Amino acid sequence: MLEEHEWKELSPLLTDAIRQIKSYREEHGASIAEAHAKDFGQSALAKYFELTGFRETNPNALWHHRASLLGAPCTTCGKPLRTSRARFCAECGAPRSNSAPHPEPLKQRSLSQPSSRRPGGRER
Ligand SMILES: [Zn+2]
Repeated sequence: MLEEHEWKELSPLLTDAIRQIKSYREEHGASIAEAHAKDFGQSALAKYFELTGFRETNPNALWHHRASLLGAPCTTCGKPLRTSRARFCAECGAPRSNSAPHPEPLKQRSLSQPSSRRPGGRER
């Protein structure tokens, strides 16, 4: 998982790769798969390796390595949602209870009122 300051180094490269993929697709009428086969995003992967020592091969997967990207804890099972935009909990399938763009308030409330969450509910 990348901390926020690491993410700031990586995300411009990722955004760049997406821009390249987009324009490649527009120019060549290529599918997403075809565009990805062109190895865009190598600089982002290199940066990720530099930051973490881990060789990720799929640039898209990098989006999921941002620590703060995890969403609010699921109100049903307490596991963090996979992304801040997740509409369903990947763990229990419960729909996200509120669509607030920023999940933080919920997190803070659970600190002072831990009764709804079990201690082992969070994985690292
Ligand atoms: Zn859940």
